[in-house]
Amino acid sequence: DRTASVSGSASTDSDKTPVRVDSQDSQVSDTETITDGHRWPRQNSMSMREWDIPFEELKIGEVIGTGRFGTVYRGCWHGDVAVKVLNMSYLKDEQTLEQFRNEVSTFRKTRHENVILFMGACMQPPKLAIVTSLSKGMTLYTHIHLRKDKFNMNKTTIVAQQISQGMGYLHARGIVHKDLKSKNIFLENGKVVITDFGLFSVTKLCFGNRKNDSLWIPPGWLCYLSPEIIKKLHAHQLHAEELPFSKSSDVYAFGTVWYELLCSEWPFKSQPPEAIIWQVGKGVKQPLANLQASRDVKDILMLCWSFREEDRPDFIRLVNILDKLPKKRLARSPSHPIHLSRSAES
Ligand code: ADP
Ligand code: MG
Repeated sequence: DRTASVSGSASTDSDKTPVRVDSQDSQVSDTETITDGHRWPRQNSMSMREWDIPFEELKIGEVIGTGRFGTVYRGCWHGDVAVKVLNMSYLKDEQTLEQFRNEVSTFRKTRHENVILFMGACMQPPKLAIVTSLSKGMTLYTHIHLRKDKFNMNKTTIVAQQISQGMGYLHARGIVHKDLKSKNIFLENGKVVITDFGLFSVTKLCFGNRKNDSLWIPPGWLCYLSPEIIKKLHAHQLHAEELPFSKSSDVYAFGTVWYELLCSEWPFKSQPPEAIIWQVGKGVKQPLANLQASRDVKDILMLCWSFREEDRPDFIRLVNILDKLPKKRLARSPSHPIHLSRSAES
């Protein structure tokens, strides 16, 4: 239960042995040291890591929204933050939890303009939460699908380049996003900020939504899935970790975001899941006949949506390809940088 995981009593250890916090390594020894006058409580099964945030230190505010993993709250921890409280129902066993802790520990190494600032995490069950900076902007999803904002080609290209730069950075750090979609891309004053990378693998695909053993597919999810992933979907699927997410499946998902930016809708719009699964699995792509765009622009879609993983470009190459797209000269003074259209500015 989501509410319970927030309002329930804190599972503080009676064992409050302080541990030494080593900034070089996430693993710390059990030597007694107090850092910055702070007594760090020891975790249940492992030592405190430098990015651990005791749940009691977080002030939880109003709900921002609920997604697959749990609920996102506005919070306060040395200023405004977003707190993603994870639904515990799928993280019961210690092994999954440990896998999750390891995965989260790679987030702390991320420092890039186009990647959300990871501030820390609460890792003591039943309080599992990820703390990031609070994005003041709107998601690309909100811009494109709810507000129906139109981006001109220059702005579309700039947004796509920033996504590629952020994604290229994550990939260079060995982080596969696994859930790249317009809902996980924020625009803040014209700057792209990517969120929710790497969280996907520990989640059960269909938690709380399983009916008569059929696979529950979240709306709007399929069109981001590459053929090799689509082909692995089956009715009894429980764990997303069984799906072959990779850097190239992230590139496929980027192709879909590029399509959304260009067409203001999703590929395979209003087709039933079975039809999408069948087509993508066979290598059939969304037709582009009605898309009024240059050959180069359409080629990017075709490249990213390549059936064979090895035919998809990496994000470094995408940054270059996008850079070579012809830019319309705007009547603007050189001192004014290109901005998103007024309607799309936040
Ligand atoms: P989804 O990505 O499928 O929308 P999430 O659980 O990731 O689901 O997010 C739930 C809500 O919280 C969404 O409205 C999302 O835009 C918002 N949100 C997530 N992270 C942040 C953040 N860092 N800053 C502000 N809002 C956020
Ligand atoms: Mg999200």
